[in-house]
Amino acid sequence: MTAILGGGLSGLSAAYYALENPKLGSVVLYEATNRLGGWVWTKKSPNGGIFEQGPRTIRPHGDPGKNTLKLVDALKLDHKILSIPVNHPAAINRLIYIDKKLHVLPISLKPLFRTCPPFKRPLLKAIWNELNTPSITLIDESVYDFIERRLGKDIADNVISPIICGICAGDAKQISVNFLMPKLFQIEQMHGSIFKGLLKERMINSGRKTKMTPNKMALKHPLDMDSVDRAVKEKWAIWTLEGGLEQLPQKLADDLYSRDVNIHMESECQELTFHSDCVELKSGGETKKFERIISSLPAKNLAALVKKQHPDLASELEGIPTVTVGIVNLEFPREVVVGDAFGFLVPPQEGLPILGTIFDSCVSPQENTVFTVMLGGAWFEEYFGTNPSEEHLLKVALEQLRTILNIVVPPIGSNVSILRNCIPQYIVGHEVRMNRIKNYIEEHKIPLGLCGSSYEGVGVNDVILSAKNAVSNIN
Ligand SMILES: Cc1cc2nc3c(=O)[nH]c(=O)nc-3n(C[C@H](O)[C@H](O)[C@H](O)COP(=O)(O)OP(=O)(O)OC[C@H]3O[C@@H](n4cnc5c(N)ncnc54)[C@H](O)[C@@H]3O)c2cc1C
Repeated sequence: MTAILGGGLSGLSAAYYALENPKLGSVVLYEATNRLGGWVWTKKSPNGGIFEQGPRTIRPHGDPGKNTLKLVDALKLDHKILSIPVNHPAAINRLIYIDKKLHVLPISLKPLFRTCPPFKRPLLKAIWNELNTPSITLIDESVYDFIERRLGKDIADNVISPIICGICAGDAKQISVNFLMPKLFQIEQMHGSIFKGLLKERMINSGRKTKMTPNKMALKHPLDMDSVDRAVKEKWAIWTLEGGLEQLPQKLADDLYSRDVNIHMESECQELTFHSDCVELKSGGETKKFERIISSLPAKNLAALVKKQHPDLASELEGIPTVTVGIVNLEFPREVVVGDAFGFLVPPQEGLPILGTIFDSCVSPQENTVFTVMLGGAWFEEYFGTNPSEEHLLKVALEQLRTILNIVVPPIGSNVSILRNCIPQYIVGHEVRMNRIKNYIEEHKIPLGLCGSSYEGVGVNDVILSAKNAVSNIN
């Protein structure tokens, strides 16, 4: 029998995929709270507004992206997919708030040759410098240091830092380049320059593509188009679910209940003790025995469970930090018009308490105008202390929207949440730490599989694929 810890997206996915692996026997899932879905949480306002507290858009690309789309198809949720193609304003227009102005991140060639704000020099100069800057051999460094070293401070401050705020609410000066830009870093390390390396790879790949195209075309069956095929054919940039993303964990849970998976709600796991022939799991005063454990818990929560028996493993898990994000969802009458864009990000050097704002009703059409303001992240305590009130966060969010977007009317609906320790931070050295964690588990022959956002990727696609890998690796 296998116990899966945590009923967020990752734990539910682990249980779903575990049913496909007969080696795992029956499956029991433990969730500490009285709801499933973890950070994936959609709320509806009385006026019809869709308020996403957690994730809202998903990328269809790569193996992780395709895997999620296959899951959505299998759960028969594909008719709810709302795709945003690459030419949609929400895909093209990403804004940045610098020097009290909103700027569109450039997608044309203009800023290459001319100085276009917010940049302080033509981007061609940055590229020229990149081509002529010798590389240094490194194992890891911060995303900020990498971009500053290769492309200059202008791009590190005004593009990369806000993007990192958008991805993981984190500080680019601490986040590992190996985890967020592994390809660019490897290319630089291998070829001595990002642009030289990209050019070489493009030349090699363009040769390969010509040979592969006829085969791919022949394999395609136009009447049997699944979401992966549609995403390619219709050039999706991102997608979401009409009515809210929480339908994904809800459908997963329905599927598990229909296949008699035992889900223990309000059952916080308190301790794990590994023996040579079983694992003892303590939860709510009871101790049960299992053959193995798959943990989707945040690393710090898992650390507390193994600390007594494996203090070294616990201290490695505790070394993966997290940040707290304040979320303020706001609904305004539809007459309040916002620009056609995904939203805007705020670079940390602007010294503002907000990380950015998403224009939800541009990304997925709604009856009224809906925004989500994200606050704090790596700077949460600096701006808000340890225990701010929800009223204070709402006030700050409204003040910022008044200044930045000139919205002066009061909202007709709102939702404020403080998501404590919600996003793990893959700081410099994360990959090496992960190797130490994996080696420890292997060397001590601990029947423990890991999945979830603390380890190999912080996005929805990553945690679903990590769950699939954690259960299919068992034989
Ligand atoms: C504000 C925000 C915005 C995001 N936006 C996006 C986005 O747009 N696109 C995207 O791809 N990703 C996004 N993400 C990331 C995505 O939401 C996460 O990767 C994903 O939800 C993590 O799922 P999980 O199951 O790994 O973890 P969690 O959701 O944290 O689930 C863990 C579960 O374990 C339970 N638990 C904890 N301790 C115990 C215990 N001791 N015993 C039993 N149960 C326990 C918890 O209650 C929880 O239900 C966002 C995240 C946040 C916070």
